[in-house]
Amino acid sequence: MSEMRWDPLKNLWVAVADSKSRNPRDFFMERQKLTTTACPFCYGQENKTPPEIFALRPDGSPPNKPGWRVRVVPNKYPMLGIEGELAQRGEGLYDAMNGIGAHEVVIETPDHERSTADLSAAELADVLHAIQTRLVDLRRDARFRYIMPYKNDGLEAGSTIPHAYSQILALPVIPPEVSRALSTSKDYFVRKDRCLMCDLLAQEVADGRRIVRNDGEFLTFCPYAARHPFEVMIAPQRHSHDFTQLDHGSLTRLAETLGDLLRRQRQVLRDPPYNILLYTAPPPHRRPGKPNYWNTLSFDYHWHMELMPRLARPIGVEWGSGFYCNPTAPEEAAAFLRDAFLHPAP
Ligand SMILES: [Zn+2]
Ligand SMILES: [Zn+2]
Repeated sequence: MSEMRWDPLKNLWVAVADSKSRNPRDFFMERQKLTTTACPFCYGQENKTPPEIFALRPDGSPPNKPGWRVRVVPNKYPMLGIEGELAQRGEGLYDAMNGIGAHEVVIETPDHERSTADLSAAELADVLHAIQTRLVDLRRDARFRYIMPYKNDGLEAGSTIPHAYSQILALPVIPPEVSRALSTSKDYFVRKDRCLMCDLLAQEVADGRRIVRNDGEFLTFCPYAARHPFEVMIAPQRHSHDFTQLDHGSLTRLAETLGDLLRRQRQVLRDPPYNILLYTAPPPHRRPGKPNYWNTLSFDYHWHMELMPRLARPIGVEWGSGFYCNPTAPEEAAAFLRDAFLHPAP
């Protein structure tokens, strides 16, 4: 029989399979091949993207030329545009505002043939550092209420170019799921004087059944009420609301953790398409008339990452209701990932 489980952070119920959990083999699928002529993210193609915003260029090479290790450019087909005022307005019952935001692409490596799972910890730390730098810069813009780094890997996960890259989306609103997690964290803190995620991580460590990896600094685990099969969360065990405050040493350990997880996932699920989402504190801009806005944020919110392999197509009821059915118990998913046979790290 399945079990109904409640997620205190996301504030939702999930039906989780138990004894008849589907195992990794049930999810194996052929990735659809993405092809491209003259990939715009390779060396020598820098003029095929909009001019770069940021790049790590250890050889001191000029912008928009080869020589970079990580390169950040505006998305050529942005969902939201950077120029203009928000101009919020009501239209009867409806609300509208201009589509202001930023949409950037982080090209993770110049090497077309290597996926993110192939990158070394030093290379992945560079990518995370580029994301930190962009977050700090985008946060200065008071029009942005939330900034979301994310990754689509594989056509089925929304990727359109077969070259390792992530994206950053700056939004003029807080997305509903983020808003829910911010409120539940704040409510919990007001009631208990403690961080919900800190309590949750301590409980997961004590329980142990859902842990994939624990290096003492970052905990990798399958959430108790995971919505999707083989969904995994990575969070720092020391409280921190802000991903940009990680120093170089911690960033390197996070890169090791993330690379390790990607290689486990690739081995256990045969290189599935996947998404990664990075949830960190929203920009702390004061809002007129709301003196208490985010005033406990640094105590109540706890940054984290979620990795979701795209294994099962969402069923209609999930799209329509926000009620999820997970065919693989998180305890079993964690065991498969924990027991993965890994080649030495690159
Ligand atoms: Zn390429
Ligand atoms: Zn915390």
